[in-house]
Amino acid sequence: MGESEEYHFNEIQAQWAAVRGKIRQKVGDALFKSWFKPISLISFDSGILTLSVPNQFIKTRINGEYFDLLKDYWLNQNKSITKFKLVIVKAKSDQDNSITYSSKQVDVSTQNKKVSKSYDLSENIGANLDQRFTFSNFIVGKPNELAFAAARRVAESQDVPFNPLFLYGGVGLGKTHLMHAIAHEIKRMNPVRRVIYLSAEKFMYHFIKALRFKDTVAFKEQFRTVDVLMIDDVQFISGKESTQEEFFHTFNALVDQNKQLIISADKSPQDLEGIEERMRSRLGWGLVADIHPLTYELRLSILQAKAEKVDTKIPENVLEFLAHKITTNVRELEGALNRITAFSSLVGKEINIEMTHDLLRDLLKSSQRKVNIEQIQKKVSEHFNVKMSDMSSARRSRTVVRPRQIAMYLSKNLTSRSLPEIGRRFGNRDHTTVIHAVKKVEELRNHDVSLDEDVELLIRMLES
Ligand code: ADP
Ligand code: MG
Repeated sequence: MGESEEYHFNEIQAQWAAVRGKIRQKVGDALFKSWFKPISLISFDSGILTLSVPNQFIKTRINGEYFDLLKDYWLNQNKSITKFKLVIVKAKSDQDNSITYSSKQVDVSTQNKKVSKSYDLSENIGANLDQRFTFSNFIVGKPNELAFAAARRVAESQDVPFNPLFLYGGVGLGKTHLMHAIAHEIKRMNPVRRVIYLSAEKFMYHFIKALRFKDTVAFKEQFRTVDVLMIDDVQFISGKESTQEEFFHTFNALVDQNKQLIISADKSPQDLEGIEERMRSRLGWGLVADIHPLTYELRLSILQAKAEKVDTKIPENVLEFLAHKITTNVRELEGALNRITAFSSLVGKEINIEMTHDLLRDLLKSSQRKVNIEQIQKKVSEHFNVKMSDMSSARRSRTVVRPRQIAMYLSKNLTSRSLPEIGRRFGNRDHTTVIHAVKKVEELRNHDVSLDEDVELLIRMLES
């Protein structure tokens, strides 16, 4: 895919059907019915995908809450989309939700003509930014404090404090949020500074297009006047050699001109696969800041902050429940909150734990992290600074015996493995040794405060 931008309309229809299916799975039937079912596909032309909604109400809701979701799923299906348009088209009848194509319904053709140079990167930059992704909406905790501080620093500096700023971390942990926040802040403090924010996919798309139009000079020219260039999700550039090459040159040229670069990825520069070694090392030259998996505290703070912004009252114990159960990322936390508030306002019921349980059954299941014995052994040996091999060795010295017992205790409590199985995994020990270890640690936790804290900390690390 991606070679030809002349898609047949029925191909787009098929993509739309797939997108709808994914969304329905994601948000559930009720929300899907209210917000997504009324959307129709209008056209796809020159990279612009036009969808229609029957009224302003739905448009606002989609733009405000579901735009990212819609966009992400679409881009998964069709990487050549450069712009999304949501237009209001009054349905002929309420039943008419079918996919229709009619150029008379809305005149998008005139607007399309304005996009004469499809590789003009500056064009939609403002529209690309999510207004809600600001520094003030970003909740800071241990896992993201470095990334946050670095982002602020870059946004507030007149010069270039470190180049590039490389942000990395798992999906849904706030990389894009921080990048947009930088752009907003720079625009606010210093409107003349030129900022370009692009996903790596878009960078690639525009570059390939420029190649086809034999116009790479103009493509490069656009970056010369930029002060800050942000490329999001750079892992998507991996493997695409010509794009990598171009990216590398652009990157070097901008660094040489002392322009600020901000890059995000799902892995550290060294761990990026399919990216040339010289590029990887260059990416690590500036400040590399990672966002760690969320802790319980941060999950709860984020939920509390988000809950304050909605009209529906959400009891504290529900927030705590969610923070315990949904450990993957912020996007899932947001999804869970949205679902319960939407449900509560639709049916006019107060939110409680029971209802939350019912509504989020699917989410809760997928979010349950499974810890295995090996992970436990690894974490415990790291924590107590003993060798992983000592988890199964015959050594009897106290420095290894205690950590080993704690690891057995955690294996019993955090996995569903049987006692004999646990014994086997700890150097073929008997199941009675495991029972002894579990009892011992239970007993110690009752009067050795520092050991109790160690265990508590390990449990939290393993569960988050
Ligand atoms: P990533 O780009 O790392 O995949 P995003 O930046 O898209 O993640 O974040 C996913 C969602 O979670 C966004 O709606 C974002 O606003 C929200 N989010 C992430 N981290 C935080 C945070 N620390 N405080 C508030 N919202 C956050
Ligand atoms: Mg992102």
